[in-house]
Amino acid sequence: MSEQEEVSIFGRIIAGEFGTEFVAESENVVAFNDINPQAPVHVLIVPRRQIRSVAELTRADDALLGEMIALVNEVAQKLGVAESGYRVLTNVGADAGQTVFHLHWHLLAGKTLGELA
Ligand code: 5GP
Repeated sequence: MSEQEEVSIFGRIIAGEFGTEFVAESENVVAFNDINPQAPVHVLIVPRRQIRSVAELTRADDALLGEMIALVNEVAQKLGVAESGYRVLTNVGADAGQTVFHLHWHLLAGKTLGELA
């Protein structure tokens, strides 16, 4: 994140500004429920460091990505959807509908999910 860039809404959540409960967390990543769930389970997996999207990731972030996926799977286990199935997705830019410019995976589950697009 550049010095001029404002802290994202997720950065403020991660800083504890709103008292948001984390579903799970690890050293560099947190998971919390989406405020506007699109499925019975809709959790956001977010790195503590503000990165705008996957487009900004480099090979230097390989370990962080691994940690994010580990937390996705931990949340799926914890919420009891690991066996029934879940979808993991991330949006990049306007056409994908990205609204929060702080990297996050959506973990969606708890019902039969529709087509992707
Ligand atoms: P995007 O559209 O960037 O892929 O996803 C952003 C997600 O963040 C949306 O699903 C939206 O509901 C969620 N969101 C936006 N603001 C907040 C917030 O203040 N708290 C939480 N928990 N989720 C938020």
